[in-house]
Parts: sequence; structure tokens; C-alpha cells
Amino acid sequence: MKNLITGGAGFIGSHLAEELLNRGEEVAVIDNLSTGSMRNIAHLKSRSKFSYHINTIMNRPLMRRLIKQSDEVYHLAAAVGVKYIIDNPLESIRTNINGTEIVLDLAYSLGKKKVIMASTSEVYGKNRPGKSTFSEDDDRVLGPTTTSRWSYSCTKAVDEFLALAYWHEKRMPVVIVRFFNTCGPRQTGRYGMVVPRFVKQAISGEPITVYDDGKQSRCFTDISDAIKAIILLSRNPRAMGGVFNIGNPENNITINALAKKIRKMAGSVSPLKHISYSKAYHEGFEDMRHRKPDISKLKRVTGFEPAVSIDDMLKGVIEDLRHGNGRR
Ligand code: UDP
Repeated sequence: MKNLITGGAGFIGSHLAEELLNRGEEVAVIDNLSTGSMRNIAHLKSRSKFSYHINTIMNRPLMRRLIKQSDEVYHLAAAVGVKYIIDNPLESIRTNINGTEIVLDLAYSLGKKKVIMASTSEVYGKNRPGKSTFSEDDDRVLGPTTTSRWSYSCTKAVDEFLALAYWHEKRMPVVIVRFFNTCGPRQTGRYGMVVPRFVKQAISGEPITVYDDGKQSRCFTDISDAIKAIILLSRNPRAMGGVFNIGNPENNITINALAKKIRKMAGSVSPLKHISYSKAYHEGFEDMRHRKPDISKLKRVTGFEPAVSIDDMLKGVIEDLRHGNGRR
């Protein structure tokens, strides 16, 4: 199997590339290194079935060539991270909408190549009263356009509409995967993600920056579980045309408890420092209090069960940031 991974030098993309290579498959990667890094794929460069292109998915002639040579496309290239989206709104919207349109259009015109498209739990938006578990068909509840966080949710929703339209109108095989707070080695905290930020702060003895009251909660998924799920879906004919949550509802924790757990596991004495959302991001920033994936659809279609506990996931991140990856 010949795989193309857009965003393949990113956190999730590089793990996916590694797993597909380990299965003996061919992997080509395209990444413009906006949030990805050469360091993420350095260990893959010597593999004979691996190739990479530092370029943009907006480069249509190159994308034509790469998609033509592939059997399936994992479209992971996107602007990600709450902080990154807020700091780079224009580039984020352009990449997420125009880039996806190029990928889908070429995949269709070059012979209806299968596209597995990364989306996000951000698509759901805010909690509805009394409900914090999100299933694929739930309504989306968003804030105003003046709150830039919601642009990410909207661009990925447009991507989903586009992919689903190719499936319904053209019968091009697509699978949409909504990742919920995926973590593991190689993730950087630079774009806002809480786990690598807290781990780095704990290791260096700096204050751990808990936003707001820290009583908000998330479910964290280990990267190895996320990769298992995405490959199970991409190789399953029953998944085509579907939208799937990928997450681990068991690993549910408040941000306060996460900070304390990381501090303890890292053997750190960092104090917890509470910071208001307006200081951390901007005036009027909105967060969702709780977010938990319903993965019954994923389980039903693929038999997937997440395997990695939050403690084991954190162990991997602490190890990585302490030894391999301290400069991120
Ligand atoms: N968060 C925090 N301190 C940080 C970064 C994030 O308390 O330094 C909080 C953030 O407000 C949110 C949670 O951690 O409630 C998860 O944030 P992240 O940006 O990792 O993911 P998302 O908000 O998309 O779930």
C-alpha cells in the first residue's frame, strides 16, 4: 500500500508514518513545517519506503504528483492548537479550507483515491446544558465570529461537509476522524496543548499554568491508541462515508488534577499558578468546561478499545520531554 500523509512531520502524522512503515507499507509525507518539525521524522529518513517533501499542500502540481502515486491519502495537514489558531487566524482559515479543497479535488480527479481526513472535537463547540459527552450526530453549539477560537471549529466543519459531499455526490471513499485531546511523545506545547506544556513546566520547575479555576475537564488519548483507531478505520469498508470520534473516555480528568498528577509523576515542586482566560488568550475567550468522546460508533464498526491509561500516557510524555525532546 502506498500512503500519502499531509502534515506527516507533525505530531500525529509522524506517528502514523512510523506505524505504516513498520507494517511494511510505503509512506510519502508532505509538510510545510508550520507546526511540524524535521525532528519528528529524522528517524524515518533512512527507511527505504519513506520519502518526504517540505512543501505546502497549496502546491497543486506537486500534490497532483504525490496523490497520483498514492493508493490512499491521510489528510492531516491543518492549522492546529488553540493558541496557534488565535495567533494566526488568516493562515489557519486558508490552510484548513483551501488546502482541503485541493486534496479532495485531486483525490477525486485522479481516480477517487481514498481520503482519511483529520477533524477535531472542536467541531462540537461548547457544552450544552447538562451534556458533556459528544456523539458524532450531536448538534454543534458555537460562539460568535468575534471569538477567533470558533473559526477552527467552523473551518474543520466545512472540511467535513466537503468530504461528505464527495462521498454522497461522487462516491469517493472518505473517512472523517475527530480527534479528542491526543497526546504522546513529540507533541509540542508551543501551540497551546496542555499536557506537553504542564510537563515542560514541571520538569523545569516553573509554575504550572492552570487556566481559570482548573475545574474544566478533558479526556486524554494516547497517540498509540489514536493511530490504531485511524488505521482500523481507513482499512474498513464499513467506515467509508462515516464520521468517527477517536478518543479515550476513560482518561477523564480535571485540569487541576492533571497538573497535580504531572507534578507528582515528574517529581517536581512547581507551584500551580491560576491564570485567567483573558490573560492566557484574550478578552472574551471561551472554553468548553467538559469534553468527553462517545466512541460507541468506533467500537461498533472496528472493535477498537483504547488501551493506554492516563498514567502510562503521561509517563511517555515525561520521558520524551526529559530526554529526547527538551528543546521543543
Ligand atoms: N490549559 C491550561 N493551561 C495551559 C494550556 C491549557 O489550563 O497552559 C487548559 C485549557 O484552558 C483547556 C485544557 O487545558 O481547558 C485543554 O487545553 P488544550 O489547549 O490542550 O486543548 P482543548 O482546549 O482544545 O481541549
